[in-house]
Amino acid sequence: MVYRELGRTGFKVSEVGLGGEYLEGKRLGQVKSVMDAAIDNGINILDCFMSNPSVRSNLGQCLKGRREKMHIQGHFRSIWNDGQYQRTLDIKQVKLFFEDLLARFGTDYLDIGTLHLIDNAGDFDEIFNGPILEYALRQKEKGVIRALGVSTHNPVQALKAAKTGLVDTILFSINPAYDVMDENAARPKKLDNAFFNDLGSLNCINSVRQELYAYCASHNIGITVMKALAAGALLDERTSPFGKALTTQQCIHYALTRPGVASVLLGMQTVEQVEDCLRYETASAEERDYSFIYSQSSKFSMDGKCMYCNHCLPCTAHIDIAQVGKYLDMALLEGKPSPSLREHYMALEHRADECLGCGICETQCPFNVQIVERMKQASELFG
Ligand code: SF4
Ligand code: SF4
Repeated sequence: MVYRELGRTGFKVSEVGLGGEYLEGKRLGQVKSVMDAAIDNGINILDCFMSNPSVRSNLGQCLKGRREKMHIQGHFRSIWNDGQYQRTLDIKQVKLFFEDLLARFGTDYLDIGTLHLIDNAGDFDEIFNGPILEYALRQKEKGVIRALGVSTHNPVQALKAAKTGLVDTILFSINPAYDVMDENAARPKKLDNAFFNDLGSLNCINSVRQELYAYCASHNIGITVMKALAAGALLDERTSPFGKALTTQQCIHYALTRPGVASVLLGMQTVEQVEDCLRYETASAEERDYSFIYSQSSKFSMDGKCMYCNHCLPCTAHIDIAQVGKYLDMALLEGKPSPSLREHYMALEHRADECLGCGICETQCPFNVQIVERMKQASELFG
């Protein structure tokens, strides 16, 4: 495993890291097998943005007796309310769930305390000019967090956060598809053949993103990466916006070759997935090379592609929107749901046909997914 300096934090983190989100809803045994495989193979950084008490407790159990082997990237303002993940601006809730995270992890410190998901200017202003930042900075002074981070999908907010001088790390979504998107587009920009024909070099990056990476690199702000595989969309030519499939190793390499990036955090839910990610460490230069995607791609669009992140919660009808979305996409790829897929879908506590069409989720989705429409689609497909 290669270890990289995480900006100015003084931490040396594994360039392949573990994102905990896919371990939510899994039994302790499965979480433990993934954590064991990760730690035994040198992975030493874990992100836990999840507020679900059970996944927090499971991860904490798995770290018992070996807490120091993992840099924990925890989050402020990710809360559990009425059985669902939610983001809050209420300082009382922020404190409550931050303390809950520490308690469930059985630790009195986090390596990185992250101001969670600041995707718009309103949240940025409220957090950076109010009690949440004050609370986070106090935790840093007391040594309860060792570094202060921000997580966001939005390069404009990320750059603003970096320029405050207060932030040591940024958890940011990076992959070759996101990097060419217009940061101001209400929806991700559609790119056609003409765009790809005009590419002068492989440094095909939106200028704000480019500035962000360069700024972080030159100011010693460590970037950790989420969404490196675009929730698997890049791994299949049918869903890749380039019309060509990349491998996990190529996606990891893309993110790791952006300036400022220290670690790519990948959602792993099985030992096989841990091994697939770890193959990056022994992959040859040819195996890592992603440049072929830029040659005459026939299509490009990330418009409305669900990333299964559940940032759209809470749902008025308590639907696990990411899970329904995942089952829907699997069924669409196959043409119709297989019996086992249908069984998984039917086991959901709340299903798509319960959607009330209120549209609240769509205002929360950072990827402009037409959730109401997809709920109708899922309801029709699964019956
Ligand atoms: S609909 Fe949007 S917020 Fe919800 S899971 Fe999909 S990408 Fe994430
Ligand atoms: S539109 Fe449907 S899925 Fe979205 S919050 Fe309302 S009930 Fe939930």
